[in-house]
Amino acid sequence: LRTVSAQSQPEERLSDEELRPNTLDSFVGQPLLKEQLRLFLDAAIKREVPPDHILLAGPPGLGKTTLAMIVAHELGVSLRVTSGPAVQHPGDLASILSSMEEGEVLFIDEIHRLPHTAEEMLYIAMEDFRVDVVIGKGAGASSIPLTLPRFTVVGATTREGMLPAPLRARFGFTANLDYYPASELQKLIQRSAQVLGVSIDDQAARELSLRSRGTPRIANRLLRRVRDWAVVHELDHIDESAVKAALQLYQIDSEGLDRLDIAVLEAMVKRFKGRPVGIKNLASMVGEEAETIETVCEPYLVRQGFMIRTPKGRVATEKAWKHLGVALPNPSQG
Ligand code: ADP
Repeated sequence: LRTVSAQSQPEERLSDEELRPNTLDSFVGQPLLKEQLRLFLDAAIKREVPPDHILLAGPPGLGKTTLAMIVAHELGVSLRVTSGPAVQHPGDLASILSSMEEGEVLFIDEIHRLPHTAEEMLYIAMEDFRVDVVIGKGAGASSIPLTLPRFTVVGATTREGMLPAPLRARFGFTANLDYYPASELQKLIQRSAQVLGVSIDDQAARELSLRSRGTPRIANRLLRRVRDWAVVHELDHIDESAVKAALQLYQIDSEGLDRLDIAVLEAMVKRFKGRPVGIKNLASMVGEEAETIETVCEPYLVRQGFMIRTPKGRVATEKAWKHLGVALPNPSQG
């Protein structure tokens, strides 16, 4: 169903790489966060100690992985990468932790999805730089405490609220990434166009930025689709009309809503006729995972004023009805 989502598909992870800035200076936008992080890293470098653990929270595609890579690059150390779902047993985490070297950065994506037992192991490793390695199985198993070198965990989460308080408390620096204003996305699109070697004018970059849901990953992806359009139509330059034509083809509307967003709004307006609806119902109605609706669609739809969350469920706003071109129900008819 989904043509363009903020979640990256495996093959897109690859193309994410070529557009990833590797220094804090080339990371576009988020000026306050950059200044804070710069100070935080510089202090650690001057004190000649690995920095405190860092937590990055925010919707997919806003630059959490990129920042983790930048942290390692700025510190001049190597980065190890894992994720909550990749750790199935505490032993998986123990083997990563016990191979960490002094000063290295361990990036744990989707840290809110770590199994509980691994989470407890992580608390101890983050706080006391110690891990208990279990040797053998069953009754004969014994555990050997292992002292770890000092390293830095960079955790990323799309659901900060789902992190248990003790884990959250172990991060010395927390950054909440928010959707990017169009002006910043415009700069990002211009930077990416340069990297890709395509020419795009200001108006076209502006139009693209307005339809990118405040999300760098989507901006980059749409830029590639517009580039495809330009290549096929033998244009050596991307202008506003090329952006509009390409995005019409890919069903990205003037507000940057894609087919899934529209499907969600349509379900609320047409199927549920404006009554509050629970996330699971909504997800099954549009054939998507509840988690995708909750982390990808909903934050943006709420932020843009297309829907609100009430204690009884999600409700489409008047703006959504208008956007879909559906007449609002007459309140006197209930
Ligand atoms: P997340 O980990 O939050 O899902 P990523 O760090 O993978 O997001 O970013 C997705 C894509 O967007 C990458 O190609 C990345 O280079 C690009 N990107 C994200 N934030 C920025 C930024 N501030 N400046 C430049 N490119 C960015």
